[in-house]
Amino acid sequence: MNVNPKLRMTKQRQLILEELRKVKTHPTADDMYQILRKRMPKISLGTVYRNLEILSETGIIQKLEVGGTQKRFDADTSTHYHVRCAICGRVADLHLAPDMNVEKEAAKLTDFQILRHRLEFIGICPECKEH
Ligand code: ZN
Ligand code: MN
Repeated sequence: MNVNPKLRMTKQRQLILEELRKVKTHPTADDMYQILRKRMPKISLGTVYRNLEILSETGIIQKLEVGGTQKRFDADTSTHYHVRCAICGRVADLHLAPDMNVEKEAAKLTDFQILRHRLEFIGICPECKEH
């Protein structure tokens, strides 16, 4: 039987997933590389990047492509909203109950089948507000 190689959990991929699940910071591939280097000194940025892409393609993690900035990753794949700092780019969860009705309303206005929706708030984070 042929198993899609992307669905195979290599040891590296498992470790990347483990570390991503520990943080709530929505790290970029670079951020993850800095975290992972402590546990795997030989890992390369390319490997981290590729594995994050694969994990998000298979739906195990979520990729946040927001505001034309660096891609960020989130181990929480549930529908939830984010707020992004317009100055430093930091992304945090925003615990507003997701509006599922908006998907029904959107479906009435388009031929597209609606799969999900995203909502991003833009603000200034506490650290940036101080400076
Ligand atoms: Zn900020
Ligand atoms: Mn999140």
